[in-house]
Amino acid sequence: MPYKEYDTYLAKKTANLIRENFYEKEITNLLVVKTGKKWKRTLGHIKTLETKEYGSLIEINPLLFDIETPEFILDYVIMHELTHYFQGFASNHEKKHRYPHKGRIVEKELERLGWKEIQEKSDLWLKANWTKILLKNGLDPRVKRKPKRKKLFRLFFR
Ligand SMILES: [Zn+2]
Repeated sequence: MPYKEYDTYLAKKTANLIRENFYEKEITNLLVVKTGKKWKRTLGHIKTLETKEYGSLIEINPLLFDIETPEFILDYVIMHELTHYFQGFASNHEKKHRYPHKGRIVEKELERLGWKEIQEKSDLWLKANWTKILLKNGLDPRVKRKPKRKKLFRLFFR
């Protein structure tokens, strides 16, 4: 499936997840969701678009569309990023916490929303299967990312 179709799928899925789980909250800026890169260790992230008043961008690792990755993993990753959004990280929502992950604030919110089981199931599945997904997609899970300067240097001399 081309990335454009992934993006449409992501947009629909994200809208549904917001409608079903965050009905007491509001989308208060331009919220965009799309596929990111085949990161080895990042499943998704959220960042500010221009300014947080203007917009927020959620990017999802396309490896989560691998046929062997269960659907609930994708749901879980989107829910995690949406939780950051509503907790005011890379969004214009009121920020009640200083750090995005300290004190398990995302996990606790997901538990409150009834996602405890899926969260635990996802963590277990990822621990057991992520390396396999990387290998299958031609990525070496052992290779650590090199410092940027070194990388540029090498490219330059190749
Ligand atoms: Zn996070």
